[in-house]
Amino acid sequence: MRIDIMTLFPDTVNAVLHESILGRAAKKGIVEINCVQIRDYTENKQNQVDDYPYGGGWGCVMMAQPLKSCLDAIAAASPATARRRVIYLSPQGQPFTQETARRLQRDYDQLVLVCGHYEGVDERFIEKCVDEEISLGDFVLTGGEIAAMAVADAVCRLVPGVLSDEACYTGESHWDGLLEYPQYTRPEDWEGSRVPEVLLNGDHARVERWRFRKQLERTRDKRPDMFAKLRFEDKDEQKLLEEVRRGRDAKKLTEPLSYRPAREEDLADILRIVEDARSSLKKLGVDQWQGPYPAEERFRFDIGRGECFVIRHGEETAAFFTLSTRHEKTYDGITDGKWTEGLEGCVLHRAAVAKAYRGSGLSAQLLRFVEEQARAWGYRCIRTDTHRKNKPMQKLLRENGYRYRGNIVVLCEPGHDTARQGYEKILKK
Ligand code: SAM
Repeated sequence: MRIDIMTLFPDTVNAVLHESILGRAAKKGIVEINCVQIRDYTENKQNQVDDYPYGGGWGCVMMAQPLKSCLDAIAAASPATARRRVIYLSPQGQPFTQETARRLQRDYDQLVLVCGHYEGVDERFIEKCVDEEISLGDFVLTGGEIAAMAVADAVCRLVPGVLSDEACYTGESHWDGLLEYPQYTRPEDWEGSRVPEVLLNGDHARVERWRFRKQLERTRDKRPDMFAKLRFEDKDEQKLLEEVRRGRDAKKLTEPLSYRPAREEDLADILRIVEDARSSLKKLGVDQWQGPYPAEERFRFDIGRGECFVIRHGEETAAFFTLSTRHEKTYDGITDGKWTEGLEGCVLHRAAVAKAYRGSGLSAQLLRFVEEQARAWGYRCIRTDTHRKNKPMQKLLRENGYRYRGNIVVLCEPGHDTARQGYEKILKK
């Protein structure tokens, strides 16, 4: 790729574009960047490049002649076969995007970037010699140099060999309509803020999944205009996109979160959350909680034993869970696997997050509170079960350190699909 920049400030532009990565690429001959002084092509004694505008008005306009002569000289010194594109940097051009950079790198061998100054350039030069106008954005700069440097930089880094690997730019923001995921480097703990655990355990498939989700979430939060345009062919990607889209409407966890044993007066909130969960399970096609279970009596019983807890977000009940210390008989019939031997686990039953908090991150927080309570009671193991078709719950459990242990048949929902998957988490000391 060869880039010729027509400017009144060649030394400044040269210095910037011959630094760092582009400077090294130029040294290796992968890209060639030439800055050409427009003033060298004037045909008047004063080397004047601009003049007053016809019709009056402020400032001066760059004359067509020096621009055209400069362009001709560049063309004459270039290979006749070069696929050349003459671009005028202008606030009136099409906004520059990564897509433009890709197109220019792909379709041309030579770009001539024309930098205007003062009030701009004589319109006849644009009409006769310019193939396209590119703008850096909807604002006005003093001259085209900063815009030309941005275009040259963005195009050159896409030229094979300039960066060490194609993946350096295909994974970046704007390549495929997404923003990049968050990046971290050493140390692991900086001023009490830790690098996300998933990036430290060497599980590349999990890292990929985490990063993809973060890309979606960031694009949703920072660039809703880009997020609205996202479409995926792949079913899993489409599903995740839907999940992240739903999460957009979730309440943000801005208030302090706490949990405490549920009381009688919490029953109305708990039953409302159960109703929310019932309808969302139905939508998911999960035949769980579709009958009378779990009914008010069950929660009264849990509350009476001190085993039902509500999670409070500020003054609001946002979720609940039951952590049972009773021996769960149905778990004895686990098939296709087994529980870890020699450990008595408490059992996480009947848990749900209010509809408004779905996608807010509260579900993971619920599991942390469960763990806190299990530890407080001296348990080293938590067991739970989830419907075989409840994929979001299975994913949540796996992401939070629970391991699948086998299949279970539950007795509490006769007449419905009673097949469940058993999960277990061993707590670290
Ligand atoms: N009078 C012009 C107008 O209103 O459209 C603006 C001229 S501007 C002060 C001078 C030069 O800066 C332009 O000729 C152009 O090359 C460059 N320039 C200014 N804003 C730009 C932008 N947003 N993108 C690209 N180039 C820009």
